[in-house]
Amino acid sequence: MKNLVLLGATGSIGTQTLEVAEEAGYRLLAMAVGSRIDAFEEQLRRFRPAFAAVYDEKAAADLKVRIADLPIKVLSGMDGLCTLAALPKADLVLNAVVGMVGLLPTMAAIGAGHDVALANKETLVAGGAFVMDAVRKNGVRLLPVDSEHSAVFQCLQGKPEKGRVRRLILTASGGPFFGYTKEKLETVTPQMALKHPNWSMGAKITVDSASMMNKGLEIIEARWLFDMPEDRIDVVVHRESVVHSLVEYDDGAVLAQLGEPDMRVPIQYALTYPDRLPSPVKRLSLADWGRLTFFAPDDAAFPAMQVCREALRRGGAYPAAVNAVNERAVALFLAGKLPFSRIPALAEETLAKTLPTPSSVEDILEIDRCMRSEVTK
Ligand code: NAD
Ligand code: MG
Repeated sequence: MKNLVLLGATGSIGTQTLEVAEEAGYRLLAMAVGSRIDAFEEQLRRFRPAFAAVYDEKAAADLKVRIADLPIKVLSGMDGLCTLAALPKADLVLNAVVGMVGLLPTMAAIGAGHDVALANKETLVAGGAFVMDAVRKNGVRLLPVDSEHSAVFQCLQGKPEKGRVRRLILTASGGPFFGYTKEKLETVTPQMALKHPNWSMGAKITVDSASMMNKGLEIIEARWLFDMPEDRIDVVVHRESVVHSLVEYDDGAVLAQLGEPDMRVPIQYALTYPDRLPSPVKRLSLADWGRLTFFAPDDAAFPAMQVCREALRRGGAYPAAVNAVNERAVALFLAGKLPFSRIPALAEETLAKTLPTPSSVEDILEIDRCMRSEVTK
């Protein structure tokens, strides 16, 4: 068995990772969460990792008391997350925390020479240049967990020496507000945004899917993972989420990866790459689906994706700034303090600012702090 460090264990990706980890040949060396410890305590009793970390100091202190009967070392704060990510015994670190808070643990894992399976897309959006630089310097693998990026990664296996990839085509479900006009989007509520048609995910990414910000973030993620310029990453809306993404080669051949929407497939592939192991997921029957539909994205009603494209073209601090403002705006929207339409509007306003060019991860963190604090309403 290989040793897995799982950050974000109680989340949507985290719990599905625990479902597939053992079959994929991993035991849990360490697990970490943000602040909620009820479900975490149950997980710890079941998986018995040697280390646990809770970002919130008070919750970590609580947890120590609750699991005093177990031989688990409990750490806290960002130091705790980074210590776990860099544990010498780790074979793979799966980062499934939500938001920019995942950046330093990702860097810590890479710095320690560990392969990283990355669900935490905000890490690449904000600090992509620094993360990829560290990946190259340390000779580690960054394995995509995001379903679209896993699909692209799978379609790139066996890529020939000669001839090139012309274009990546990411699919987007379109979310719960597909077909809505700008006017209709003025009145949507958090409850409506949280009803994703195809996937059951954490609240933040579900809102990002509703605004199409998620696809914008994924364009930036793809730029770094596959070293592909922004103008060669296309997006097509595909309501059924059966085609997970596509790669077009120079000769006109387009390869796609398909399957029933189930995150356990990309999670497992990141754990077993380059092997494929059996999985309990529902098998795809195209005849049962009958038809699959595809549409051009509606950038007029959903401007977030174009905001991300522009941030990526400008480079430097702009993607980190858009991400920071989006994280804060989504939190305010979920708390009922911001209308939905203000999310892309606030993100777009960052493009009008003059931002310093970051030269380190610390600079990225500073830009993140600064941009977040500017978001009020
Ligand atoms: P989630 O909200 O369900 O879970 C988030 C997890 O992160 C929880 O375990 C939480 O305790 C932990 N966490 C939150 N704040 C933390 C902190 N400060 N320190 C440590 N841990 C913290 O989120 P999710 O849907 O599982 O998404 C996780 C990441 O994966 C996101 O970046 C998301 O964009 C990406 N992703 C998710 C899906 C999906 O299907 N859910 C698909 C693709 C990509
Ligand atoms: Mg995705």
